[in-house]
Amino acid sequence: MDCIFCQIVAGKIPSQVLYQDEEVLAFRDINPAAPTHVLVIPKKHIDSLADVADEETPLIGRMVKIANRIAREEKVAESGYRLIISSGKDGGQVVPHLHMHLLGGRNLSSKLC
Ligand code: 5GP
Ligand code: ZN
Repeated sequence: MDCIFCQIVAGKIPSQVLYQDEEVLAFRDINPAAPTHVLVIPKKHIDSLADVADEETPLIGRMVKIANRIAREEKVAESGYRLIISSGKDGGQVVPHLHMHLLGGRNLSSKLC
């Protein structure tokens, strides 16, 4: 298993876990781009958003719901936050295991890139 995030799911690489259930894991990003920077991932390995099967799309909704809950817990829900899923090379995805970034705690640019 050479996927970093699968190794985090398996507990082989330590991480600061904020939430987990049978399907989803949320942990702090090792190189935070904002005061709150959390990654929400499926425990199952899916390469990217482009590889989500039709029957797996409810998982994305669950990831959003969990990110929203963490945003409230991190006290950034009122000030505002951003959820990002980068997909593929041009999308800027570096780790090839589907993940959603939750960013908050500072004013993020209104420019998307
Ligand atoms: P991407 O650029 O693929 O959308 O985001 C990958 C994210 O994973 C980056 O923000 C990076 O800092 C984070 N990351 C990479 N390796 C690790 C790790 O071993 N542990 C944690 N907690 N985050 C990681
Ligand atoms: Zn993986």
